[in-house]
Amino acid sequence: MERILIIEDEDPIRELIKLHLTMAGYEVLEAATGSKGLELIKNEEIDLILLDIMLPGIDGLSLLPEITKRDVSVIMLTAKDGLKDKMQGFDLGADDYITKPFQAVELLARIKAVLRRSNKKASSLSFDDISINLEQHKVFKGGKEVDLTFKEFELLKLLVENKGMVMTREKLLQLVWDYDYEGNTRTVDMHIKRLREKLATDKIKTVYKVGYRLEA
Ligand code: CA
Repeated sequence: MERILIIEDEDPIRELIKLHLTMAGYEVLEAATGSKGLELIKNEEIDLILLDIMLPGIDGLSLLPEITKRDVSVIMLTAKDGLKDKMQGFDLGADDYITKPFQAVELLARIKAVLRRSNKKASSLSFDDISINLEQHKVFKGGKEVDLTFKEFELLKLLVENKGMVMTREKLLQLVWDYDYEGNTRTVDMHIKRLREKLATDKIKTVYKVGYRLEA
């Protein structure tokens, strides 16, 4: 069942949305303040967030970066005259918005559309007994989580996405570190070494004088 978090300080609106979502078969979590919302975002597995912008304390726009870095879909709930909020919200990664007051049928249609879009994105990659959960940014070997740094994760993801193909050091450096060709390719070598150790895999092959390839 898909889980939706409603962050909305106006009780009647939140309760009404909750009622409609529950009837439509969604599991609902709710927060009446930004800080309560943040706590749930950090601790719960959530598929989509309905985010009110005007909240006491931590407002909706301040919460957006916390949400999008976790790859959770978000629909903003905005006031009629909230054009600036909407633009800012989109800049911060919101997927859609709906203007208050709205009809339940419209809200449900938007939720469905956003969830459909996010489900299309591949959510996991794997090889041998190693699986990469792209949404949670986690890697598992034989079902056990392997602790990788952000760069190690990005590097592994690229190799797996391009399984069987040679990735040059320069290309990896450019894609993972945003460096141009002047960057230090030793960085790539060091990260590959650590990846091999942490994952205890021999599938990351060195292609002499060129780069690396994940054996398919
Ligand atoms: Ca509000």
